[in-house]
Amino acid sequence: MRIQKHQNAGPGCTGACCLKIEHLGVSIGGDQILNDVGFHLHCGEIVALIGPNGAGKSSLFKAILGQMEYSGSIAFQRAGGNRTRPLIGYVPQSPSFDRGDPVSVLDFFAAAVSDWPAFLPMPQKLRARVLSCLERVHGGALIDKRLGALSGGELQRVLLALALEPLPHILILDEPLSGVDIDGERQLMDMLDEIRRTYDLSILFSTHDFATLGQYADKVVLLKSGVLRVGPPEEVLHSKEFQAVFHLDLGRGGA
Ligand code: ADP
Ligand code: MG
Repeated sequence: MRIQKHQNAGPGCTGACCLKIEHLGVSIGGDQILNDVGFHLHCGEIVALIGPNGAGKSSLFKAILGQMEYSGSIAFQRAGGNRTRPLIGYVPQSPSFDRGDPVSVLDFFAAAVSDWPAFLPMPQKLRARVLSCLERVHGGALIDKRLGALSGGELQRVLLALALEPLPHILILDEPLSGVDIDGERQLMDMLDEIRRTYDLSILFSTHDFATLGQYADKVVLLKSGVLRVGPPEEVLHSKEFQAVFHLDLGRGGA
């Protein structure tokens, strides 16, 4: 069902954007971090990037974001054949901040999306804008909470709302499920699924949580310096390459 939607999501879709990565290489200080990486992210697709720590997942994201030099090609194709650089929403891996800081979700969000000075009373219009952004991820109730008091799942929800303002063409999330409990994981993945359906976004995220992939990901890319395997979740999670990397036998019964 999902695949059919993506195939039909051509000229009629609003923010649709495909991403084609070919022969991508990244070196840092003479070390080849990524080598001959290639895969496609189609319009409205959710693609999960998996691989052990140090596999190059975050580096790949930085290359896509234009924050890291690379060789090879990263090509974007938007609806109507537009090949200009799309807007990419990005949720970075475990952002660190002082949990004791008194800053509220509203203050944090307002500082990120406007240049309104924090020492002046906030105009109602700005509060309303932040509220509507949070409501996109059903997070309106979080607006007056202290950022440091949020659960892992709530924090990811706020960061996701921020990555969606302004609405991007592609959404990249680096390990959004780390530090999130099981209920929070499911809520967040349901949220991503809803977002891609509502806005026809293409979503690329990295994770070490393999249990939810079968339900939510259209495609899984197994990365370890290069792409070891790419395909539907069932196929990748039961591949010999997956077993060799993670020393896990998930069995046919359940991943
Ligand atoms: P992953 O996200 O899969 O854990 P990373 O992309 O963070 O992997 O890192 C891949 C490799 O690149 C690791 O060996 C890491 O040590 C190295 N690396 C990443 N960023 C830098 C950097 N700025 N300087 C030096 N080495 C780096
Ligand atoms: Mg990483």
